[in-house]
Amino acid sequence: MLFRIPRLYDSHTHFLATGEFASGLRLEEINSRQALQNIARTNPGYYRRHWLLGFGWDERKWPADEQPHKNLLDEVFPDIPVFFARMDGHSCWLNSLALQEMNLTSETGILTEKDHLRAWDQLPGFTKEQERTHILQACRTFNKAGFTHVRDMSCTESLWNMLCEVADAGDLTLAIEENFTSHDMNDFEAMLNLAKYARQNERPLLRAKGIKVFYDGSLGSETALLSKPYNGIRGGNQGRVLWDIADIENIMKQTWAAGLEFSVHAIGDEASHHIVQTARKISAQGAVGRLNMEHAQVLRPETIQMMKPLHVRCHLQPCHWLSDRVWLQDKLKELYPYAFPWEALRAAQIPISFGCDSPVEPSSFWRNKIALDESPNFRIRKFTGDLTVAHAHPDKSFADSYTIIEDGVVKEINFNGRPLSLE
Ligand SMILES: [Zn+2]
Repeated sequence: MLFRIPRLYDSHTHFLATGEFASGLRLEEINSRQALQNIARTNPGYYRRHWLLGFGWDERKWPADEQPHKNLLDEVFPDIPVFFARMDGHSCWLNSLALQEMNLTSETGILTEKDHLRAWDQLPGFTKEQERTHILQACRTFNKAGFTHVRDMSCTESLWNMLCEVADAGDLTLAIEENFTSHDMNDFEAMLNLAKYARQNERPLLRAKGIKVFYDGSLGSETALLSKPYNGIRGGNQGRVLWDIADIENIMKQTWAAGLEFSVHAIGDEASHHIVQTARKISAQGAVGRLNMEHAQVLRPETIQMMKPLHVRCHLQPCHWLSDRVWLQDKLKELYPYAFPWEALRAAQIPISFGCDSPVEPSSFWRNKIALDESPNFRIRKFTGDLTVAHAHPDKSFADSYTIIEDGVVKEINFNGRPLSLE
């Protein structure tokens, strides 16, 4: 089957992490003390300054009597700080030296959610040279997968400035949209100012969109906020939120008042409901702005109805279904009919965009197509919309391009009138 897709768009990515991930230390196959010892610790690509970084561990691949713990890292890496991010990007595994340098304490060395994100933000930056290498590597990684447009959820001041340099040198082979993450009220104002500054300094291939926040966690770690307990256990865990909803209301208003978009990571049905309710509330007070729902993996029908009068777009990653399918029905029980609601959103005429959440999942148009093809066999309503539209950047004036993909293979990619290398 052959697809010709205009402006092939990955609408939810972590841009720099994608470049970093492609050139950095991968932990998927590392699942023993011996494997830790075999890591090529002299590879400069594995470091941020003197910190050793790795991505992709999964405790389920480790033996029961040798689970990820700071002691294990201390034995193998007694003399360098180590920061290993879990495959879902929601936890990290640190050794004692790393905890010490960050002034943190932890019994196990495993930090999750907010603690993980805060630790991540405390990591030393890359050198300028490393950052430039990662930007170019990320462009290559997305281009090789056929993408010409990406939306980045994790911009920083140094990334923005470096992207401007790369754009001005004519080396950008992607059209990029940037969002700045705020973790709490303490950093919000600085992030808003940064987004405003970036908005004033856009380039033809580089746009500043707004603010991104994490409202809940993930289904995999049972931290996404559901309206019913996980696994049908009466009185059991329903997940949690990372923000006070009154603070969300406040910063959504401020972001919209600045003419910027407000994007919210919301995975559980109850988390999404809170956000949509809040947007409705401030809209009724006269606030106007764009809301992006990130992931929206479980949406109740009434929440979708409430989206209708809003300027809202849902950013879905069908490929997450490929990873979640094994436990999804068990975890969600009676909420399962509301999972991966691409068809319900289409039917309600709520705009949607597809993406891959790279580097959590590889950036791939074809994996999303496979997920959409296979999920109806698992009682997910079949998507009857046009996949090439849901995967195209909606703005025709933002860099002209097309991509040809045949049976999963990228055959041709044309960006601003010139063919791009697929090497
Ligand atoms: Zn993400």
